[in-house]
Amino acid sequence: MITRENLIKSYLEFFKSKDHKIIPSASLVPENDPTVLFTTAGMHPLVPYLLGQSHPLGTRLVNVQKCLRTGDINQIGNSTHHTFFEMLGNWSLGDYWKKESIKYSFEFLTKILKIPKDKLAVSVFEGDINSPKDTESAQAWQKLGMPKSRIAFLGKEDNWWGPAGQTGPCGPDTEIFFWSSNKKAPSTFNPKDKNWVEIWNNVFMEYEKTKESKYLPLKQKNVDTGMGVERTLAVLNNLQDNYESPSFTPLIEVIEEISGKDYSECKREMRIIADHIRAAVFLAADGVIPSNIEQGYVLRRLIRRAIVYSKKLNIPSNKSLTKILSETCIDIYSNYGLDKKRRVIEQVLSEEENKFEKTLSIGLREFEKLSKNSSRIEGKEAFLLFQSYGFPIELTEELANEKNIKIDKESFNEEYKKHQDLSKSLSSGMFKSGLADNSEQTTRLHTATHLLNEALRKVLGPEVKQRGSNITPERLRFDFNFPRKLTEEEIKHVESLINEKISQNLKVVREEISYKEALKQEAQAEFGHKYPEKVSVYTILDDREKKKWFSKEICTGPHVQNTSQIGKFKIIKEESVAAGIRRIKAIVS
Ligand code: ATP
Ligand code: MG
Repeated sequence: MITRENLIKSYLEFFKSKDHKIIPSASLVPENDPTVLFTTAGMHPLVPYLLGQSHPLGTRLVNVQKCLRTGDINQIGNSTHHTFFEMLGNWSLGDYWKKESIKYSFEFLTKILKIPKDKLAVSVFEGDINSPKDTESAQAWQKLGMPKSRIAFLGKEDNWWGPAGQTGPCGPDTEIFFWSSNKKAPSTFNPKDKNWVEIWNNVFMEYEKTKESKYLPLKQKNVDTGMGVERTLAVLNNLQDNYESPSFTPLIEVIEEISGKDYSECKREMRIIADHIRAAVFLAADGVIPSNIEQGYVLRRLIRRAIVYSKKLNIPSNKSLTKILSETCIDIYSNYGLDKKRRVIEQVLSEEENKFEKTLSIGLREFEKLSKNSSRIEGKEAFLLFQSYGFPIELTEELANEKNIKIDKESFNEEYKKHQDLSKSLSSGMFKSGLADNSEQTTRLHTATHLLNEALRKVLGPEVKQRGSNITPERLRFDFNFPRKLTEEEIKHVESLINEKISQNLKVVREEISYKEALKQEAQAEFGHKYPEKVSVYTILDDREKKKWFSKEICTGPHVQNTSQIGKFKIIKEESVAAGIRRIKAIVS
């Protein structure tokens, strides 16, 4: 059995031996690209360099990149697609071109992985009015011994990549397929035959598409390749199914154990659970928290869908599905630093699990009621399932599909929008009048922010000062001056100090005093912020003695009256935002 570690190592070393420099895997959440939610391929973080900016490590790069494709969620359950997967990739930034790229790929597959040539086939671009037939690639393949009958010329939908948006770099590609059946591979390559599994794609970015839809030759011709780790592992090990590969077997085994069922009998359910929890683990590790928007919504959807599927297998709630599976997952993937984030990952997942478990069974009952004797679920009803029972609309749709029931998606969207508009106008109205959103949750986060501000000074030193703060119902964000990354111990220390203060039931009191008096009392004020003559000061009393306090801050609130109302405090991210400024994101639950 070829292991995941071996495959990755061989790939990186092979390209290193061809003068490529290894670059680290970027976050699943793109750092500088607000137009996409996730990193969907290894090239994503490299776009500026593909457009011509020079890369500090040179013109030949290689890595293994974490990827997430929401577009593939509905396919999960098949044997080849995952939401989260790993992609091996090598790049030429204006360096080598088609011939060398194809030669490297062929050498790696046949010499390093020792795949018999007879099990390989390729497709190349057939040409259209904008770009000629890619005979250069076809010839390169033929020269390496690929028979003509194993080279298919296909159109744009199969053998063309990009541009990512309306304009930008793009070009033809050549895809490499592996014969995955035990039967002898046919001498002619038929791309429609499912036994041919695509494992690697080499993209040749030689054009720039303009606004006028012209394809101009790029100044710098790039090669961008991507090979799926899970798929390649499966075919190399002669498995019919990615989930029998070492990236997945430990997860499937756990699911078999807690459900008491056999993988062979419930493949689709087990695949969905394993896939989704694995993706959720990686999202949580990259700082995503379940919410109703953007990345957070995808995470929520994945966890909740996995839980619904666990019910289909009759896995009881007390099996702590997410905890047991995230532990297994963290053990499989030691190279992404997951182990250091074990606690946060497990907490983020199990909190979402617990939240959903509370409403799931009544929600399912409600769904049964709505779908009984009816061929249609109204938008309002789907919205109720979403709002009150936490059913992502996609999940309701799926449950409805199984019963052959339609959902009025349009009126659901209207309902959703109405709700959004309402909450938007509520918060903007409040903002105008100088009040923040004072829901219970944000109030708790406001007071937690004060505890954090003081705890950081206690742990890191009195020179730490607040440089910014932002609170949403989901989380608090706190910026402060500090010259370096916090250690695990420091983060733990800050958290436990805050949770200790929360558990001491400390009173929070508000008083209105002059700004001068506030400073005299050493109340904390935000650096660079202009304050009026009279300010309100919130004090978190300590030891129940009037004169002793834990925290004192100039602030407009709102705040809880007693720290016990805050709940459990947890730091989910610590990062740098600018030179000398750190950012903490934290949640209370
Ligand atoms: P497919 O047609 O099978 O969906 P694709 O054309 O979308 O694949 P690319 O975008 O070219 O794939 O990605 C490069 C490689 O990444 C593929 O050759 C495959 O090995 C792997 N890959 C793509 N999508 C997935 C997925 N959802 N799960 C696992 N591996 C994937
Ligand atoms: Mg695809």
